Amino acid sequence: MRMTAAVMYEQGLPKPYSETKPFRIEEVELDGPGEDEVLVEVQAAGLCHSDLSQVAGLRRRKLPVVGGHEGAGIVRDVGRNVGDLRPGDHVVMTVVSGCGKCRPCFESRPVLCEGVTAPRTQGLLSNGARRLSRSGQPVFHYSGVSAFAQYAVTVPNSLIKIDSSVPLDVAAMFGCAVVTGAGSVFNSAKVRPGQAVAVIGLGGVGLNAVMAAKVSGASPIVGIDINEGKLALAHKLGATHMVPAQDPHLVEAVLDLTKGGVDFTFEVSGAKSAMATANAITRKGGEVICVGLGASNEMYQYAHAALVTEEKVFRGSFMGSCVPGRDIPRYLALYQRGQMPVNELKSDVIAFDKLNLSLDLLDRGEVVRQILLPNG
Ligand SMILES: [Zn+2]
Ligand SMILES: [Zn+2]
Repeated sequence: MRMTAAVMYEQGLPKPYSETKPFRIEEVELDGPGEDEVLVEVQAAGLCHSDLSQVAGLRRRKLPVVGGHEGAGIVRDVGRNVGDLRPGDHVVMTVVSGCGKCRPCFESRPVLCEGVTAPRTQGLLSNGARRLSRSGQPVFHYSGVSAFAQYAVTVPNSLIKIDSSVPLDVAAMFGCAVVTGAGSVFNSAKVRPGQAVAVIGLGGVGLNAVMAAKVSGASPIVGIDINEGKLALAHKLGATHMVPAQDPHLVEAVLDLTKGGVDFTFEVSGAKSAMATANAITRKGGEVICVGLGASNEMYQYAHAALVTEEKVFRGSFMGSCVPGRDIPRYLALYQRGQMPVNELKSDVIAFDKLNLSLDLLDRGEVVRQILLPNG
């Protein structure tokens, strides 16, 4: 079938993206679904900070590629070996999908899956197939999802069936932002009631960490960001104290109000300087949960003796250590009960013609989650 999609031909184009246009909106061909694949009509796709990293070229991708790695839509067709999804089912499209056959998958750690990395690096679905092309030339899949398109063919492991009562523009955020932020709190830190928490970087992921910390009974919950509007939103969603990231007395302020530091700092910004702040505001014996992805060649140093004597833990948390089939229904239940008002993170809905401009808004930190409506 022919469809409209956002295709990236080159990484590392200069800003502003509204002028250099990293994504070209054009017609492409989509084949399939193959016998173990699913065709989804994409109803909503979130713009995530990792889309900016992809555009900037921080991690190289097979090009040209259809972007987008968090989305939601409606199943339109299934291959004959697909047993548990049917046309008409509403689904979240998630970037986390393990092969189900490797050691990390057996240990319920699909974010560490050894099986899907190789095909993904090649711009293929995890079954090794490529279903995208243009004028007979190959076009590649992004993270097995490619949600910046009217339709997507993917494998069932990338899809989680959801209740059709959940609005799909909200459901889209569960594919990456929600699982990453909430999972860092529930799965990686395992925050307990009364523990002190700080979150550095209050975008879509950080604000989900704030909401999850509130659900966990954390107190206080300190929100840190350079943007005042995001601090206000964090307050609305559960942060008890807000500290501007540019405040020269940030560290003293947090140590003061927590009587010596927080139990868990969630470093979501991915900035190296924020790692130093995270360490400074975490109490002895506490944990720095590293959520934000820095550049792959950047090093972080830490005093060796302090690592021993202060017993701090630096814990990587990739995609919230998510097990999609287990976690997405749990987080959706929290949303439906009003305990995680994920809908508050939606800054705007956009059409294809605003996609490149929306990258600029995201890059400048002026928005939380913009949702592309490919068929809207
Ligand atoms: Zn993402
Ligand atoms: Zn695996």
